[in-house]
Amino acid sequence: MKKEVLGVCFDDLTREEAVQAGAALLEEDKFHYVVTPNPEFLLTAEKDREFLQVLNGADLVLADGIGVIYSAKIQGTPLKGRVTGIGFAEDMLSCLNRRGGRLYLLGAKPGVAEEAGRRIVERHPNITLCGVQDGYFRDEEEALLKVAAARPDLLFVCLGSPKQEKWMARWGRHTGARLAVGLGGVLDVFAGRVERAPEVWQNLGLEWAYRLKKEPWRAGRMARLPLVLVKAAGKRLKQRP
Ligand code: UDP
Repeated sequence: MKKEVLGVCFDDLTREEAVQAGAALLEEDKFHYVVTPNPEFLLTAEKDREFLQVLNGADLVLADGIGVIYSAKIQGTPLKGRVTGIGFAEDMLSCLNRRGGRLYLLGAKPGVAEEAGRRIVERHPNITLCGVQDGYFRDEEEALLKVAAARPDLLFVCLGSPKQEKWMARWGRHTGARLAVGLGGVLDVFAGRVERAPEVWQNLGLEWAYRLKKEPWRAGRMARLPLVLVKAAGKRLKQRP
């Protein structure tokens, strides 16, 4: 079931349900893409109609970010819970490992995807790393041709947002992959370049605070985020009879 939060229609799924849905997409012999919007996405999508359409056109729209969960609750349409991009990525890697299959990593700075791939294959020996490419290419189509030549089943697209979602919607079906997932800075975490918040912080819904502590330069970007809560409150008040 879909629930709309500030124009973006989320799949209302627990992490376990999201894994099942993702695993089913990975079995189907056609292209699918998954997006993991956080509050920043919602603010961008408000001003960028193409981005909004790309998000709502995805096969799975997962609520990453505690701000989305709070906004949904404030609006009066609560979601079951958070499904983080990194958690979903881990789960899809386990699925691919179980069935055996080909993984392609697209994005991040040169050298990062290689290191992430090396570490992933160490943990998931049934996965074939069929290719990697950094995210600072000039020509989108050229990047696509390299991906398609590698014939992946699962493709992680980590170019930052909204670039990665637009890339998937535009080029994804030509890659030959069954499932592409837009995952932001996840390759940096998989490669050990960026540390994920410890579990206590995650469980308290404070991952954003940990990130801010580690990367204080994000403060400017993050200062806009409470705005989504204010907008959600405005929407709730408008709905009152
Ligand atoms: N990135 C990229 N190409 C670009 C811009 C960014 O590959 O043109 C990468 C960047 O190196 C980082 C990732 O995209 O690995 C996402 O960065 P960020 O942490 O800003 O995204 P978030 O996780 O907040 O969505």
